[in-house]
Amino acid sequence: MTRASLPPVAVIGAGFSGTMAALQLLSALPPERPVLLCERAGIFGRGLAYGTGNPAHLLNVRTANMSAFPDRPGDFESWLGHLGPEDMEGIRSTPAGTFASRGLYGRYLTELLSKAVTGSAAGRLRLLPDAVTDLEPHGGAFRLRTEGGQSFAVAGAVLAMGNLAAAPARSRHSLDPWDADHFGRLHPHAPVLILGTGLTMLDAVASLRAHGFEGAILALSRRGLLPNAHAPAAPWPTPNLTPAEFASLPRLLARIRAEVARANAQGIGWHGVIDALRPLTDTIWRSLPPPERRRFLRHLRPFWDVHRHRTAPPAAETIRAELARGALTVRAGRLLDVADESAQAVVTLRLRGAAAPERLGVQAMIDATGFGHLGQSRDPLVRRLLERGLVRPEPFGLGLDAGPDYRARGTGPARPLWLLGPLLRGVLWECTAVPDIRNEAAELAGLIATDLERAVAA
Ligand SMILES: Cc1cc2nc3c(=O)[nH]c(=O)nc-3n(C[C@H](O)[C@H](O)[C@H](O)COP(=O)(O)OP(=O)(O)OC[C@H]3O[C@@H](n4cnc5c(N)ncnc54)[C@H](O)[C@@H]3O)c2cc1C
Repeated sequence: MTRASLPPVAVIGAGFSGTMAALQLLSALPPERPVLLCERAGIFGRGLAYGTGNPAHLLNVRTANMSAFPDRPGDFESWLGHLGPEDMEGIRSTPAGTFASRGLYGRYLTELLSKAVTGSAAGRLRLLPDAVTDLEPHGGAFRLRTEGGQSFAVAGAVLAMGNLAAAPARSRHSLDPWDADHFGRLHPHAPVLILGTGLTMLDAVASLRAHGFEGAILALSRRGLLPNAHAPAAPWPTPNLTPAEFASLPRLLARIRAEVARANAQGIGWHGVIDALRPLTDTIWRSLPPPERRRFLRHLRPFWDVHRHRTAPPAAETIRAELARGALTVRAGRLLDVADESAQAVVTLRLRGAAAPERLGVQAMIDATGFGHLGQSRDPLVRRLLERGLVRPEPFGLGLDAGPDYRARGTGPARPLWLLGPLLRGVLWECTAVPDIRNEAAELAGLIATDLERAVAA
């Protein structure tokens, strides 16, 4: 095979993960190797998180830590520095740091991609606005097929398809938290139920208000925990965990509590301790025996999430004001039943501490409980790849299985198929936020370049 005829590497999904995989591949691969970036939504660079135009939807990570590149930590802040006064509404300075709107971040990513399309990589990066429906084994690699009927021979593929879709809707009055256009059609005063009390609930409340909804909102989750807000915190040193602490959840918890107590005694607080664990969390996840990991998922995950995935202070302030004026109520409890009527859903709830279940009529139920389980996924590409044995679930059902080199593990022979982003949750614990994905994208591109060019040389 001559170098000029090298088939492309396909990247499936053009949210943050796919965009960064494509940009890093353009740097890591030889100039003769093109990259095919496929996106079913037709909008490249934004994905689920950064497509919002609502300035109240803020990044939940400080701008200082949102560069797309591991080796250029100031890149996003320097991009923000070139914006005009008309964009300042999207940048909020707080004592805990500066937070930009997610819409601005999406613009940053689309500009990075446009530069690659028109700049030095022009002609090597092809954007394909189509849904990929199959990767058919072909020679040592794949023939990629799309919903639009296109087909390409590719040298390998990166699956960067984001989170798996949520479980099927429980009512015909269910609304998708990401499809806020529907919120404008709601009656402005009839009550709304939000399932889930995490970051997605905060977004849904902001979207409801931005679309003119003025009525009462009840947010329900099993524990009724709200995300904590970022706070000014001095850094805390990453603890030097013992092998026993890496291998046992109770020991690990005891150590973290001891670290927090020491930090409190120095006036630093828990925020710095949780942040200091970040470089260790993947190793902790992999070191814990599987039953301990299951216990973590069953009992501790909600507590971890509200401490680790914090919100921007202005978003927390909005929620505090909603709670204070009684427009939003947050309760711990369970949804027992949903009965659809023509204009409303009648939900039966068991609220924590209540003597008996309660029934409530709501005009809409917004499912903000997070993302689906692999077993529930109806995604056609995932289903096809599972059937072909090219991928398999990882043991916790959170995503797909992969090796330490990001290569998908299936039931058949290994092929040039890699994973990036939230699909890796379960294998890697920290794989859903920009500060982790940017490193993983760079590492993955290097590994793919080595693998493919070794194959060409052979
Ligand atoms: C609301 C929200 C806010 C967040 N805020 C932050 C934040 O402030 N800071 C932070 O660090 N992280 C944040 N995150 C975490 C976020 O998951 C990551 O930052 C990152 O956006 C994940 O990107 P992704 O590309 O992996 O997934 P996604 O953004 O979901 O992108 C996946 C893309 O793949 C496409 N796709 C799927 N299947 C196919 C197919 N078969 N063919 C073609 N295309 C396909 C989808 O259309 C989608 O565009 C947030 C997440 C959410 C949901």
